[in-house]
Amino acid sequence: MKALPVVKPVELPLAAPADATKRFAVSRVFCVGRNYADHAVEMGASGREPPFFFMKPAQSLFLVTAGQAQWPYPMATEDCHHEVELVVAMASGGANLTVEQANAAIWGYAVGLDMTRRDRQAQMKKEGKSWEIGKAFDASAPITPLVPVESVPDLLQQGISLKVNGQVRQQGQFDQMIWSVAETIAELSKAWTILPGDLIYTGTPAGVGPVVRGDVLQASVPGLPSLELKVA
Ligand code: MN
Repeated sequence: MKALPVVKPVELPLAAPADATKRFAVSRVFCVGRNYADHAVEMGASGREPPFFFMKPAQSLFLVTAGQAQWPYPMATEDCHHEVELVVAMASGGANLTVEQANAAIWGYAVGLDMTRRDRQAQMKKEGKSWEIGKAFDASAPITPLVPVESVPDLLQQGISLKVNGQVRQQGQFDQMIWSVAETIAELSKAWTILPGDLIYTGTPAGVGPVVRGDVLQASVPGLPSLELKVA
């Protein structure tokens, strides 16, 4: 018998000034499609449709700590897009959560990018096939260290933005979300039992677009660590 594989758990650090020895153990990574009205329109939707979900493997997380990270341009695409998103980290879970229960189950937040091989996604959509190859690839989920909810009590009155090479490309206020953070979690919990350690990428505002090698991406949410990477 060969040696059994050694598989490392996926863990994220907490943002300073939190205890640097503590880690957030990641369970699953869920993502929400089309959760800002203006992005839903740019992707061809209209009105308040029920949220839909997809997943990325926890191993696709790409941690970005202070300073500029080098992010490898992915293989198998010629049209990789940025989607800047607020990420919610769950302290506890359950099925069929109410909005209040969903809100109480949040551990904290991070800034993330739902990087997308748009050409592969579009091709698979056209063929009526699963578009996982467009979303769930290596390093497809850049993320910052996590901040506990108590440290950012006014976070959801803020917004998120992304600059590419110093120019604002995406900007959205969290109150423009079609489904609020707590509503999104409650809806998700109708289809999956949420587990402690789950992460949820909560959707992107309008302005998604391609990145090329050499681009510098800077994502920010007031109160959270900023995420800066260079496409290498
Ligand atoms: Mn997205």
